[in-house]
Amino acid sequence: MAHFTVIGLGRFGVAASLELIHLGHTVTGVDKDSKMVEQYVEDLTQAVICDSTDENALRELDLANSDAVLVAIGEDMQSSLLCTLALKNLGVKEIWVKASTKAHHTIVSKLGVSRIIHPEEEMGIRVAQSLNYPMVNNYLAIGHGLYVVEIEIKPKLHDRTIAHALGDARTSITPLLVKRGQEVITGLDTGFELRTGDQLLLCGTRAELKYIAPRLV
Ligand code: ATP
Repeated sequence: MAHFTVIGLGRFGVAASLELIHLGHTVTGVDKDSKMVEQYVEDLTQAVICDSTDENALRELDLANSDAVLVAIGEDMQSSLLCTLALKNLGVKEIWVKASTKAHHTIVSKLGVSRIIHPEEEMGIRVAQSLNYPMVNNYLAIGHGLYVVEIEIKPKLHDRTIAHALGDARTSITPLLVKRGQEVITGLDTGFELRTGDQLLLCGTRAELKYIAPRLV
C-alpha cells in the first residue's frame, strides 16, 4: 500500500483518487475550493482545503509521507506551475503533472517532473485504436515500442489454439494471460485452446499486433 497526494479535485483528480483508493492505497485530496473538499471528505483518506500555490500551506501537508504527488490542476496553468515549483522547492521527488496545453507541457518539463500527463490526448489515442480494431477492448503502451492489448475471442476461434490464432506471428507476439469468466489463466503455451468470449491479453509491437489483427476479427 502506498500513500498519494492528489492536488485539484476536478473530474480528473477525483477519478484518479477514487481509483487509487479502490486499488488499496491511501489518498490525501487537496483543493482550494471547500465545496470540492467537503464533497469527497468521506471517500478519500483525507481531504484538505489548501491553496497549493502557497508553499507554506503545502509544507503543512506532510508531503514527505507521500510516495507521489499528482498535480491535477489543468485549466489554471499558472496555479499548476506555481504548485509544481513549490513541490520542487519542498523536495518532493515523485511529481506527476496533468498538462492541458503544449505551453504547459513545455514549462513543466523544464521543471523536471517525473511524468506529464495529457488525459484528453491519451484517451483520444485509445479511442482511435479501439475504433480501428473494434475487437481490442483495452490497450496499453508499456514502452520500448511494446503494447499490451486485450482481445475478445470470437466464435471462429472457439476451440482453436493460441498458435492457430497467432499464425506465423506466434514467435513474435507473447500471450500473457486469458480471462475466462472469473478465472485468470496464466502460464499459457501456444497449445492452449481458446473459447468464445475469452479475453486474451497479448504483448507485441504495434506492427506485429496490426499484422495479426485480421486473424482475430
Ligand atoms: P477537470 O479534471 O474537471 O477537467 P480541469 O482540468 O478543468 O479539471 P481545473 O478546473 O482548473 O482543472 O482544476 C481542477 C481542480 O483544481 C478544481 O477543483 C480547482 O478548484 C482546483 N484548483 C485550482 N487551483 C488550485 C490551487 N491553487 N490549489 C488547490 N486547488 C486548486
